[in-house]
Amino acid sequence: MFSIGNSTNGVFSMKKSEQLHELRRREMVETLQRYGIVNRRVLDAFLEVPRHLFFDREARELAYSDAAYPIGFGQTISQPFTAAFMTALLVECCSSGKVLEIGTGSGYQAAILDHLGYTVFTVERIAELYERAEKHFAMLGLDITCCLGDGTLGWKSEAPFDGIMITAGAPREPQTLLDQLARNGCMVIPIGGSCSQQMTVIRRSGNDFRKEIFQQFSFVPLVGREGWNDTVF
Ligand code: SAM
Repeated sequence: MFSIGNSTNGVFSMKKSEQLHELRRREMVETLQRYGIVNRRVLDAFLEVPRHLFFDREARELAYSDAAYPIGFGQTISQPFTAAFMTALLVECCSSGKVLEIGTGSGYQAAILDHLGYTVFTVERIAELYERAEKHFAMLGLDITCCLGDGTLGWKSEAPFDGIMITAGAPREPQTLLDQLARNGCMVIPIGGSCSQQMTVIRRSGNDFRKEIFQQFSFVPLVGREGWNDTVF
C-alpha cells in the first residue's frame, strides 16, 4: 500500500534503512502493547503504516520513539500511544464507515484511519501543514480527502459521519460537529483546559448523546469558532 520512494544512496542502503524502520516500528508497537493497547486491528495498523514517512528526512530516525514531535507552526505529530489510544476508542465505537478527523497535522493519524478501511476526510487550519499533508497523501497513493479550514465547523457537504476524531484539545464539544454525527455515530475528543484534557467518547443515539470519560492527555489547542480563541495562545 505504501511506496517508499527512491534512495539517493542506492537500493542496498534504502533497504537497510527500511529494515531498520521496520524493526523500530515493531518495537514501537511492543511499547503500545505494554501501555495497554490490545486491539489487534489497531496494533496491526501501527505496525504497517510507516510513521517515518510523515517526518522530514533528517528527523526520521526519531519517528518510532513514543513521543510527540514538532511539525512546525507550534504544532506536533501526536505521541504514538495517544494516537493508538484514540484509534482504539474510535474502532470500538465505530468499526467502519465515514470518518472526519479534525487536525490533519502531519497526516499520520489520517493514514492510520485509511489503513483501517475508513473513508477518511480530514481538516487542517494551517495552510502549510494542509499542503504538506496533501502532498504526502498523493505521494503515498492514499485516498484521503483533506481540506483547509476551521474544523470546528465540520464538513457540512460530507456529513453525516459515522465517526469524528478531534486531534487537538477542545474547551468543549463543538455543537456543529455533534450535529454532523450520524444518528448512531460517535466522536473521540480531548476536552479540558489549555494544559490538559480528558479523552472523551460521545456516542449519539438519535437525539441522545452519551459521554464517557477516559484518562488525561495534553494536546495543542483546537483553535476556531467553536474551539479556543487564537488570541488566548
Ligand atoms: N493528527 C495529527 C497527526 O497525525 O499528525 C496531529 C494533530 S496536532 C496534535 C493538532 C492539529 O490540529 C494541528 O495541526 C493544528 O493546526 C490543528 N488544528 C487546531 N485547531 C484546528 C481547527 N479548528 N481546525 C482544523 N485543524 C485544527
